[in-house]
Amino acid sequence: MKIQAINGFKDILPEAAVRWRSIEQCARDIFERFGMREIRLPILESTELFVRSIGESTDVVEKEMYTFTDKGLTMRPEATASIMRAFIEHGLHVQQPVQRLYTIGPMFRHERPQKGRLRQFHQVDAEIIGAVEPQIDAELIAMGQMLLDTLGIKVNLEINSLGCPVCRPPYKQRLVTHLQEISSELCDDCRRRTLTNPLRVLDCKKPPCRAAVADAPSLLDVLCPECDQHFFGVRQSLELLAIPFAINRFMVRGLDYYTRTTFEFLTTDLGAQAAVGAGGRYDGLIEQLGGPKLSGIGFAMGVERMALLMEQQDKTQWPSEPMDLFVAALGTESLPLCTRLTHELRLQGIKTAIDYSGRSLKAQLKQASRVQARFTLIIGDDEMERQQGILRNMASQEQCPLDLNGAHHQLAERLLEALR
Ligand SMILES: [Zn+2]
Ligand SMILES: [Zn+2]
Repeated sequence: MKIQAINGFKDILPEAAVRWRSIEQCARDIFERFGMREIRLPILESTELFVRSIGESTDVVEKEMYTFTDKGLTMRPEATASIMRAFIEHGLHVQQPVQRLYTIGPMFRHERPQKGRLRQFHQVDAEIIGAVEPQIDAELIAMGQMLLDTLGIKVNLEINSLGCPVCRPPYKQRLVTHLQEISSELCDDCRRRTLTNPLRVLDCKKPPCRAAVADAPSLLDVLCPECDQHFFGVRQSLELLAIPFAINRFMVRGLDYYTRTTFEFLTTDLGAQAAVGAGGRYDGLIEQLGGPKLSGIGFAMGVERMALLMEQQDKTQWPSEPMDLFVAALGTESLPLCTRLTHELRLQGIKTAIDYSGRSLKAQLKQASRVQARFTLIIGDDEMERQQGILRNMASQEQCPLDLNGAHHQLAERLLEALR
C-alpha cells in the first residue's frame, strides 16, 4: 500500500511552486508599497480565540475547525483573529497608532473538498488596524485590486455595508420576521440560520433561497447616519481611485465580527461565481478580544484560486528555474576537480548542476538540457591531461576551450568571466 496525501491536503509540486512564489513575491512587493509590514504567526492557537472572534454560531466554529479537543487548541481557520491576538499581546498600537500588517500562510478548515477549495488552503492576508476613515477602506481595496491586476487576474469587485451595533440589530430583527414569513420557501440550513445567523440566509447559494430572499429588506436602506456617511465615503474614494465596483446588498460575511464595509473580488472563470478574495471592516473585534477600542479592516486572498486562475490564462508551461552551468565529469580522473569546482561556483552564486555517475557525454548533455543549463563544462580524461576543459554554450552549441591550470578559485573566476 502506497501512502498518499490525505483528502483535502495537497502537495505543491516544483512547477506549481514557481507560480506560488511569484504570487507571494508580487504580494510582498505591492503590499510594502502601501507601508504594510509582514507578521508571521503560529498555526496553533487557543480554541477560545476563534470562538470569541469568529463567533460560536458560525459554520467555521460549529463544524469546520480542526481542534485538539483534549488540549483546547485549534489549527487556525483564518488569519485575522491571530493577527489581532498578536497585536493585543504585543501592544503594537503603542509603537505606532496605525498598524499595517500582512501575513502569508496555510489555514485549515474541514470543508468538503472541491475545485480550488482545500482543507489546508493558503491565504495572503492584509490588515490595517487603528484607522476609521473611509479612505482607508478604499486604499486597502485598491491594494487588493492592484495585486490581482498585476497577476493578470480579472475580477469584479462588489461592496456592501453591514452597518454597526447601532443599526444592525434592529435590521436583523426585521429580517428575522421577514424570513419567518417565507420560511416554507427556504432550505433546511436557512431555516435553522433564520434564528442563529439570519444574515447568512441572504447569501445562500441555493436557487430557491435566492429567489425567496429577492425582496427581503436591505440593510443599506436602514443604515444609521454614521454608517451611511461612511459607506458614501468609501464609494467616493473608490471612484477617485478609478476602481470599478458594484454594490451587492446581499453580500454578508460568515464571521460575526464584521461591521460596515465588506467586499469581495469575484471571478466567473472557475465555473460558478467564486471569490478570489474577500474582506471587510471589523470595528468591534479588537475590543471583543480584550484589546483597546480600535477599529480595523482587512482582506484575505486565496493563493490556490489565484494560482488556478493564472494557470488557466497562461497555458504555457512555466519553466522551472534554469541552471547556469552543468558540469559533465567524464571518467574518474576529473571527478575530484569537478566536485570541488562545483562547490566553488555555488559559493560564488552560480547555479551549478553536476552528475557524479560517470555516464556517457551524450547522457550528460541530455541531463544538462533537462535542467535548462545555459552552459555545460565538459572535463574527461583527455581534458585533464591537456589541462583544458570544453565550455559548451547549450543554445548556440558553440564550444570553446577553458584553461584548467591554477588554483580552484582562479578556475572559478575564469568560468565566471566566460559565463557572463
Ligand atoms: Zn450604523
Ligand atoms: Zn438556503
